[in-house]
Amino acid sequence: MRLLLASMIDRFSRLFGRIAPGPAKRVLVNEILSIQILSTAAIGALAVASLYWGGQWVLQDNYGRWALQWTEELNDLGAPLYLSDDQDAISRIERYIDKYPEIGRVTYYRQDGVVLFAINKDGDDTVTDDLSQSRLRETRALVGAAAPYLVDSGIIDPRKFEILAPVWTESIRGDGLFAFNPSESPLQSQLDLVGFVGLHLDFITFHDRLLSNIKTAVMVLLVLLVVSTMYGRRVLRRALTSISDLHQPLKELAAGNLSVEFKAAEHREISEIVEALQSTASALSERDERLLNLANHDVLTGLYNRRRFVEELKTELEHVISDGHHSALLFIDLDQFKYINDTCGHPAGDRLISKVANEIKRSVGDEGLVARFGGDEFAVLLNDTNKPATKKIAEKILEDMRRLSHVEQEQVFHIHCSIGATMIIGNELNHDELVAQADIACREAKSAGRNRMQFYNLSEREAQRLTTDVGWMNKLRQALDGNLFELRFQPINDIATGLTTHHEILLRLKGEGGKLISPDAFLPAAVRFGLMSEIDNWMIRRAARAHAEHRDGNSELNISVNLSANAFEHDDLAGYVASCLEEYEVPPENVIFEITESLAARHLDHVEQQISSLRAMGCRLALDDFGTGYSSFSFLQRLQADYIKIDGSFVVNLVDNPVDQKMIRLIAEIGREAGMKTIAEYVQSAEVLEMLGDLGVDLVQGYYIGRPAKRPIPKTMPIPLNSRRNRDRDQKSYSA
Ligand code: GH3
Ligand code: MG
Repeated sequence: MRLLLASMIDRFSRLFGRIAPGPAKRVLVNEILSIQILSTAAIGALAVASLYWGGQWVLQDNYGRWALQWTEELNDLGAPLYLSDDQDAISRIERYIDKYPEIGRVTYYRQDGVVLFAINKDGDDTVTDDLSQSRLRETRALVGAAAPYLVDSGIIDPRKFEILAPVWTESIRGDGLFAFNPSESPLQSQLDLVGFVGLHLDFITFHDRLLSNIKTAVMVLLVLLVVSTMYGRRVLRRALTSISDLHQPLKELAAGNLSVEFKAAEHREISEIVEALQSTASALSERDERLLNLANHDVLTGLYNRRRFVEELKTELEHVISDGHHSALLFIDLDQFKYINDTCGHPAGDRLISKVANEIKRSVGDEGLVARFGGDEFAVLLNDTNKPATKKIAEKILEDMRRLSHVEQEQVFHIHCSIGATMIIGNELNHDELVAQADIACREAKSAGRNRMQFYNLSEREAQRLTTDVGWMNKLRQALDGNLFELRFQPINDIATGLTTHHEILLRLKGEGGKLISPDAFLPAAVRFGLMSEIDNWMIRRAARAHAEHRDGNSELNISVNLSANAFEHDDLAGYVASCLEEYEVPPENVIFEITESLAARHLDHVEQQISSLRAMGCRLALDDFGTGYSSFSFLQRLQADYIKIDGSFVVNLVDNPVDQKMIRLIAEIGREAGMKTIAEYVQSAEVLEMLGDLGVDLVQGYYIGRPAKRPIPKTMPIPLNSRRNRDRDQKSYSA
């Protein structure tokens, strides 16, 4: 039933809304209207059916009453006919039946059923038959009954009836005037059958009238239905217009236009939806604004951040090229800023950075755009200017900064800055190269004693180096972003056992044509452009991942990872290492960090603290390039390295160079004294290997042992007899 109704609604709506079959969307107005029309039609049909059956029922009821009335009256009117040929009685009967169009024919019968007299209305020429005996018997029994007639409804046409009734006379039997018993009837009547009367009744006109009334009702209903549908359609369309009106603004909202305006709706429900949408759009717009603000501004100072500044610089570069005017770029780095951080903590440093930011902004005023580039670095873009004006503004910044003082924990801090400047004159330089120029000029200002400004002005050779550096910088950035770095694994073997103890992970850059570039080529540029700490972080994470990838077939896989000085600038280096190792489930005991001796010596305090955190986690430490710097025994002890890596320059010509041999023997002895193992790199022949064993070196690395490979491959090597003999002897003499 429900299915049927649904399919009807569907068909109706298609018909109504002229919806094409197929995947076209349903129309709400049409569906509501279809339901309305179908339900009204169903109710109307029910009402018409009830009207018809009710009318029928009322008619039937009336027929009975009329039949009784007519038979009684015709009984009276016909009684005189049985006594004489009474013409008056005939005309009375004729007048009587003329009044009722339903009475078609009246026949009076004698007591024996023979037709006495018949009156036919116009057009009816039916000859009336005498009554059968059975009919006579049935009718006689009705004398004096409450409904004294027999009814035969027509078999062919139910609207036609034949009625047969007895005709009798009534006379009083006794006078009963003196009867005092109230229970006795005072008058006893006597009923005498004199004949019968037959009526032919035809109610066709009634039926026809009823049907025509019903037809009129149906027509009225249909008209009402059409009118209400049209009206309903209009009203619904109007009501739903506000919903349709939402379509376009919603489309725009979805397309990202948050300033879209929604039309006010007339109806409460829709108006609530409109209000909700409007407030959603404003909330989104506010959030967008906040995000945009965050994306463009530095949180601490509120100045433009590096990303936004670079955008502005790019635009200005285009203007310079198209308009032909000149502009300038200043790169500002605060002098000895770490001092306030170290003495009063980072929050104090943050407060000073904010103050400095405001000061620079004030100094520059409307002349240019100030941004925080990162850390203690700021950048200023001066539009449409020349060299003297640029110099003037830079000197104003320096001057204002010199006057600036900042109090923290009852200490007064004076901060200075160094400024590098470069002119934007629309030559072939891109924005990165311009920033690099200003940065280099700033370093020059630092090297020249800080608290000064310096224009970018390099010799040809330096400019050439800068161009190369900038080229490298772009390549390195791409490598970091696009994973163009690759790892290689070189085994380090124990001379005594001949087995691989660990692998050093080496970094390679994928160059053009898939050629691998070694770090010697690109690391100096990375250091100059401050990309080293990013490379270090990349290396730490990638090494941990490599360990996870390769340890399956090599459960004792130990890796050695190189770190630069910049990795130690990261205040939470140990935390970062721990998170990477944890992510790839690398046991810290399997990881050795290699740092260069010179780096460790230069930043001893800072490095020492970071190293002890790494060691506390379980990681080990190797001092790389040992022998080239200015190490002392006490320095070695302070750092508590696990390995000393003898610089390759002592190993390359070892066989022919007795000084190198002495040096290596000395380092091996120092290492043994300090409880550290010595590693010799650049081992390229069996003689060198044998000699290193003789000199007391513990571990070896080099092409002779194993070349850098795509994955860690443990190598075994023959153990030189001499080295074993010497080792055994040495150990005996030490333990003795
Ligand atoms: P130099 O004269 O050579 O510039 O020395 P410096 O001490 O200013 O050192 P450098 O410019 O190389 O390093 C900037 C330091 O600023 C490194 C870091 O400790 C600190 N720093 C970087 N960002 C923030 C920051 O957001 N807040 C604070 N408080 N310190 C920062
Ligand atoms: Mg600084």
